[in-house]
Amino acid sequence: MAAAEDFYALLGVSSRATEEEIKRAYRRKARELHPDTSSAPDAEERFKMVTLAYETLRDPERRRRYDMFGPDALRGSGAGGGAGGAGGFGDVFSAGLGDLFESFFGASPFGGGSRRPSGPPPGNDLEVVLDLDFAEAVFGGEHEVTVRGPVPCTTCGGSGARPGTQASTCATCGGAGQVRQVRQSVLGQMVTAGPCPACRGMGVQIDQPCDDCRGEGRRTQSRTFSVVVPAGVDHGNTLRLAGKGAAGPRGGPAGELYVHIRVRPHERLERQGQDLLEVLHLPLTQAALGAHLRYQTLDGEEDLVVPRNTQTGRIFRLRGRGVPHVQGRGRGDLLVQIVVDTPANLTGEQEELLRLLATARGEEVAPADSGFLARIRSAFK
Ligand code: ZN
Repeated sequence: MAAAEDFYALLGVSSRATEEEIKRAYRRKARELHPDTSSAPDAEERFKMVTLAYETLRDPERRRRYDMFGPDALRGSGAGGGAGGAGGFGDVFSAGLGDLFESFFGASPFGGGSRRPSGPPPGNDLEVVLDLDFAEAVFGGEHEVTVRGPVPCTTCGGSGARPGTQASTCATCGGAGQVRQVRQSVLGQMVTAGPCPACRGMGVQIDQPCDDCRGEGRRTQSRTFSVVVPAGVDHGNTLRLAGKGAAGPRGGPAGELYVHIRVRPHERLERQGQDLLEVLHLPLTQAALGAHLRYQTLDGEEDLVVPRNTQTGRIFRLRGRGVPHVQGRGRGDLLVQIVVDTPANLTGEQEELLRLLATARGEEVAPADSGFLARIRSAFK
């Protein structure tokens, strides 16, 4: 059996530490020893010991027994000790360190069943932005994106081995990519598994590395991909190009390429879901008397008939002139919302005509007297 561990010393607290202090100390230690951040070779083992110490001291009954009898109390009284010791301390491990870790940090570094089998790890996902004109987004089409990232090394075909040589099975792990270690602890035998340090979990070793990629099996390069943009995509949409991300080291599977769509605004049209909206200003005369306009949609010039008596706020709906549905059929509409403009900067003749109109309609208006206008101006200063 290994030397008895001092659980208080492991956590760096005094033997009179409160539960809260013990919990804080454990969090701190666990972060230090997290398998993702700590490069110390024995970090995982130390993490487990610290966890055992914490699991013991946070429970008042276990802590009392530990204080009275020391770690021996945990080992079981039978000759040889070993697994299944007294006092239920084996529960710590049957519950799973992964579960425990999850309750602290949200995700288990031990991976549980989700851990990948051995082999070269996959490459990272890559991201790129694709800028589209408004109409390009509405109608879709084929576009190109260029992205820089790792690609398989052509010299060695991604294996990382110098041409003419071959990668061989890792002697340390026998190709499994993982090594298991049996350690003695206060609980008895403890088996830990981790990535093989010799091959970094890949299961193979390279005796003569490729000169061009130094054994990585990949090199950084710019690549251009064709992207088929579906009609109706919108600003902020993301397209995924499977397997076009970074190549994995030594022939590992490639990551994904995510294409983020950015759409330049249109000078007149605004998008509202599948519909397009334009606010169209009309002079008073056209709104009152009606007009036959040539109107530019995304599909080309069309007739827009403004009837007599058109008021501000009226909406004309051009059916099927909006945005296609990304998935499915049909298109939204183009909505033309009218704002009637008040005639301004009138010439003397125009003002005279308006005054005639006002008189004919019996509408009282301010007199042309300049003194009156001056008073109005000063009132609004
Ligand atoms: Zn190479």
